[in-house]
Amino acid sequence: MVATVTTTSVDAVEDAREAPSVGTPPRGRLAAPGAVLLVSCYELGHQPLSLAGPLAELRRAGFAPVAVDTAVEDLGEDAVRAARLVAISVPMHTALRLGARVAARVRSLNPAAHVCFYGLYATLNADHLLREHGDSAISGEVVAPLLALARALDRGEGFEGIPGVGTARVPAAPVLGRGGTLVPDRAGLPPLRSYAGLERDGVIVPAGYVEATRGCHHTCRHCPITPIYGGRLTVVPRETVLADARAQVAAGARHITFGDPDFLNGPAHALRIARALHEEFPGLTFDATVKVEHVLQHRRVFPELAALGCAFVVSAVESLSDEVLLRLAKGHTREDVVAALDVLDSAGIPMRPSLLPFTPWETLDGYLDLLRFVAERDLSGHVDPVMLAIRLLVPPGSALLSEPGADAWLGDLDAERFTYRWAHPDPRMDALHAEVSAIVEGATVRDESQPATFVRIWDAAHRAAGHPESPFPSPSVNRRPPPRLTESWFC
Ligand code: SF4
Repeated sequence: MVATVTTTSVDAVEDAREAPSVGTPPRGRLAAPGAVLLVSCYELGHQPLSLAGPLAELRRAGFAPVAVDTAVEDLGEDAVRAARLVAISVPMHTALRLGARVAARVRSLNPAAHVCFYGLYATLNADHLLREHGDSAISGEVVAPLLALARALDRGEGFEGIPGVGTARVPAAPVLGRGGTLVPDRAGLPPLRSYAGLERDGVIVPAGYVEATRGCHHTCRHCPITPIYGGRLTVVPRETVLADARAQVAAGARHITFGDPDFLNGPAHALRIARALHEEFPGLTFDATVKVEHVLQHRRVFPELAALGCAFVVSAVESLSDEVLLRLAKGHTREDVVAALDVLDSAGIPMRPSLLPFTPWETLDGYLDLLRFVAERDLSGHVDPVMLAIRLLVPPGSALLSEPGADAWLGDLDAERFTYRWAHPDPRMDALHAEVSAIVEGATVRDESQPATFVRIWDAAHRAAGHPESPFPSPSVNRRPPPRLTESWFC
């Protein structure tokens, strides 16, 4: 069972399983193999869990879906023409933009097919998606509404009014109480070697991807999880997570990424899973995302996580400006970032910070301060260069829209790009963003080392500030290049 719970009851769900419902097998319009087509366009370089979850439930219900991940394989014309229901996964902004293109192609090849968008960004952008690109939108715990939609279409029934399935005429709030009840089914998906691996000391090993929780207890204002989950958490049962990890280890994974928005939203749950995985696969490593606040709050668990195989922790530092951090409601300060880095350093776990350096409130001096912090602490190998180019996205429904004073910086909705426009009050910051983005893009093409790219960004930022000769500081520590996933992070 998957349930929405509070922190204190996270572990109680382990004792309260329910059998999934089977229902009537398809006999109608969606009974044929390939009548349901699931499409993922981008999932941060992982084999898509957003395909594996629905595949398990649809197959159990008797459907014979086809799944295509356009990040690594072609979406053939035959597959599009054979489909009656095309469900496109949109868990993040990049995936949404790619998914809208897939929908346009489906519309031109097979106008009669029902196009459904599912995932975090579907409901946020439902107005535009359902006007221009598709028929329905599902967010939150998507598997049950998606199955209900498939069943309704199979029976030739209307698809409006299904809980969790929004349409142009009948919007629907995300369903959060229940998710898929089965172990994700990865049969037929592209092999793990097609995806990002873990690189450590020059050796790359295949990496798997699981989620022990979805949603988040926190409500950071810029985060797309906030308007969908509203501070609530969905816990995936321990045995389900372990079975999914086990299947990926059997398929070659030597490292597992915990894709939870925050691994320590349910610390006991997380620890039990990490311990069980280590007991079964002592050589397996893992990474997880843990917010700065949780690193400090749960500082005692990190030596154990290191012993259990934690290769690195992604921590959403975002900015070192206390003003920016307050605007984003991050729950940490610059001082906390320093302390969290110390906690992880003491445990021997590299921090890989994620950043949001281009917001309306970050100053050019603030950006320079961030670069200096990275340089002085020898973190340039720990920060994916793309992190230094991330610009605030404000999707419809964002908690930032209701922030007092938003009128001062917020522009119109650019519906085709799925974000509100905004311009920085200091034009040098917008120009710097464009320049840093180009540097990062060029570095990716040249396969340049992270420290080398960092120096280019350092130079560009200091030129923008009128200090082109600013010397690169000597680091106060010397760090080894940390392990990393071989796919840069895009939101
Ligand atoms: S802690 Fe992370 S996942 Fe949770 S709301 Fe904040 S940014 Fe989003």
